Amino acid sequence: MDLLDTLTAKGLRGEVPTREEALAVLATTDDELLDVVAAAGKVRRRWFGRRVKLNYLVNLKSGLCPEDCSYCSQRLGSKAEILKYTWLKPDQAADAARAGVAGGAKRVCLVASGRGPTDRDIDRVTDTMAAIKEADPAVEICVCLGLLSDNQAERLKAAGADAYNHNLNTSEGTYGDIATTHTYADRVDTVQKAHGAGLSACSGLIAGMGESDEDLVDVVFALRELGSDSVPVNFLIPFEGTPLAKEWNLTPQRCLRILAMVRFVNPDTEVRIAGGREVHLRSMQPLGLHIANSIFLGDYLTSEGQAGQADLDMIKDAGFEVEGAGEATLPRHRADLAEAAQAAGSCGTAASACGSGGGCGPCGGHAHTAPEAPASEGSASEGSDDELRSDLVKVRRRGAGTELAPNA
Ligand code: SF4
Repeated sequence: MDLLDTLTAKGLRGEVPTREEALAVLATTDDELLDVVAAAGKVRRRWFGRRVKLNYLVNLKSGLCPEDCSYCSQRLGSKAEILKYTWLKPDQAADAARAGVAGGAKRVCLVASGRGPTDRDIDRVTDTMAAIKEADPAVEICVCLGLLSDNQAERLKAAGADAYNHNLNTSEGTYGDIATTHTYADRVDTVQKAHGAGLSACSGLIAGMGESDEDLVDVVFALRELGSDSVPVNFLIPFEGTPLAKEWNLTPQRCLRILAMVRFVNPDTEVRIAGGREVHLRSMQPLGLHIANSIFLGDYLTSEGQAGQADLDMIKDAGFEVEGAGEATLPRHRADLAEAAQAAGSCGTAASACGSGGGCGPCGGHAHTAPEAPASEGSASEGSDDELRSDLVKVRRRGAGTELAPNA
């Protein structure tokens, strides 16, 4: 049986491929790309049908972060000309959230820059969640505030949070190359705290920071092991004014291979195309929907996405449908696993379904030298043939923290 038949058969059974099989996906050629997408698409449809979950970001506090995550426009010393503001008031955040929900978002992601929240910050977010849920009790709320201290996850859960996001971002072996003010172990600890408190785990990665194929496979298997319920796949947005501004390592083909690998390793888990979708997948975005079952609607934390209506049109044109508030995202067996682990307050193994993480709290560092990636004909894994497309990076100037209406 060839690679793709094997991966499809495993994915349809909910089985995880071997590490070698995952690496082989990243080494496929451009001639094989549509076959790779089709194989991942069969697995996606088995567990998620043609539904696309929409998530909406609200940046509660932007910029001025003391952490040194190298990929982040909000980092210590960033020269990126992003919006900078302190905590939004609950009604301001609720207004932004309402726009996203009206646009079709099922989940609102409340994000704040910083190493981690103070107890006062937890109070602020509690008030914000109350304002959002007062307007729409059905909306899912995911919170992303960085590293959590003892009992903060429990407080968020008690206040109505459904999920916590904290991304692992890259492999354990290279984490010190992207951030020095916190560690990979810190990140794992916060994912475990969140999950242990009964919050659904959202934890993903950033591709395009100069990592090797082995690094990508390492982090994706680590996320599976942590039991992340949703895996956001970010493609680095190389902001001018950050250490990774010149790291244009991705092509649309490379992005699709990465998404497919993530899907095969997480056949029955929410896979989300996160930041960098428009910048790196470009006109190939609709193909990504055949692999991932979730995207962000509208804008990102500090950059603008395409118009929310363009997201909706793309979903419809590609033959998919927006997941409704009453529809379950995860397959039943997967949701049961997550609920059981949350009820037990345990985490840390694949069986216990744990993990979370997002492009918010401590993450990042400086650009590191990529170890040798496996060479393959027609593969863009080296990323050297992608051009500098800084013109596609648009700093967010509307929505939360501005007088202009949000994009949703
Ligand atoms: S990713 Fe989060 S913790 Fe890291 S610099 Fe940006 S805002 Fe700060």
